[in-house]
Amino acid sequence: MARLLEHHALDFLAKGGIEVPGFAVAESADETEKAARAFGGRAVIKALIPAGGRGKAGAIKLAETPEEAGGYAADLLGQTVLNFPVERVLVSERVEIEREIFASITFDSMTRRPMVLFSALGGIEIEAILDQDPDKLVQFPVEIGLGLQPFQAKEIAERAGLTGDVLLGAARALIALYRVFCQLDAETVEVNPLAVTPESRIVAPTGVIVVDDQALHRHPELDGIADPNLTNGWRPLTALEKRMREIDATDSGSAIRFNELGDGRIAFMFTGGGAGFLAFDTMLRLGGDPATTFDITPGFVEEKMYLATKAILALPGLKGLLAGGNITNFIPIDIKVRGVMRALKELKIDPETFPVVFRFAGPGVEEAKELAAEIPGIEYHDASSTIEDVVRSIIERTREA
Ligand code: GDP
Ligand code: MN
Repeated sequence: MARLLEHHALDFLAKGGIEVPGFAVAESADETEKAARAFGGRAVIKALIPAGGRGKAGAIKLAETPEEAGGYAADLLGQTVLNFPVERVLVSERVEIEREIFASITFDSMTRRPMVLFSALGGIEIEAILDQDPDKLVQFPVEIGLGLQPFQAKEIAERAGLTGDVLLGAARALIALYRVFCQLDAETVEVNPLAVTPESRIVAPTGVIVVDDQALHRHPELDGIADPNLTNGWRPLTALEKRMREIDATDSGSAIRFNELGDGRIAFMFTGGGAGFLAFDTMLRLGGDPATTFDITPGFVEEKMYLATKAILALPGLKGLLAGGNITNFIPIDIKVRGVMRALKELKIDPETFPVVFRFAGPGVEEAKELAAEIPGIEYHDASSTIEDVVRSIIERTREA
């Protein structure tokens, strides 16, 4: 998934036929003031970050004058909001909102269809709608072959309790949202609030578009706009996380999942969905402090294991390495061990001062043991040791080291 920044989302919504206010991106109070003046003075200033919930976080300001707009920008720029540094603000023309609607189209993996979520209760999160009044949320799965038909869009708006011009305008907006959703291979296209103006126009003062990063190769129009690195959900990627994505992109035969955790002391490269979680939990339970999580799907992963190990061990403050996984069936494990060993040799790791614990079990275990023996002192475990045994060992040994 890759979430577009709001000015790009508004661009695509406008191109798709939805009315949006005038907007500009500003990097300084001056630029903000100028833009606000161009919009007639009354403007909305928003932190331009890839995260929702800015209103509650105090990062959306309604200015009455250009000077006030500049002042708000000066406040916001340089702050960290919802874990993201605010380097730019979005300045937009103020939409007069008489009524707020919730409109969203999102891919639903349960029904395997685009799902329209629509409610005449807008401006609050969907969770709040579901909490307060679940009946007020209309859910409509779209049959992909048919698309969203105008009569269906009207029916959705009607079921949500809209009438008259507002009903028709909202239905038109839904059709446009659906078009944008399909054109961009989006996972989500959401406008909350979709605004009804006093003249009953339907306007999108905001927009969220999340696109499928697997489909980016067929969207040159998203080049430089949809950046999966921008979206880690809750905070920007660290330098090491970015490096790991580069490493992952070197070969599509297997996929790496990686997180840097802050100031942990143990490089944690214990792979496998379930086994990785179990080892991680065990480490926390036994008082260890992992610096990373790491997973890699099966394949010819020697090169990626080499690059990943090298990148992880460059983290400052590490005291040891735990690498391995549960018993593997798909591929010979010496492929992985070969990659890790290349990195350890190149880095001249000495297990006397930097304990290394392996737990690789499965086909190729004898070759793997031989490889590991090339650096004396590496502690090798096979399937006869439990995950808890090896986790305990790395914790104790890093404590001594
Ligand atoms: P979010 O909190 O990150 O989802 O940011 P939004 O862009 O949705 O803005 C948060 C809230 O600010 C909205 O729910 C509106 O109540 C208000 N808001 C945003 N833009 C406008 C605007 O143009 N006019 C008015 N009156 N309110 C706005
Ligand atoms: Mn919103």
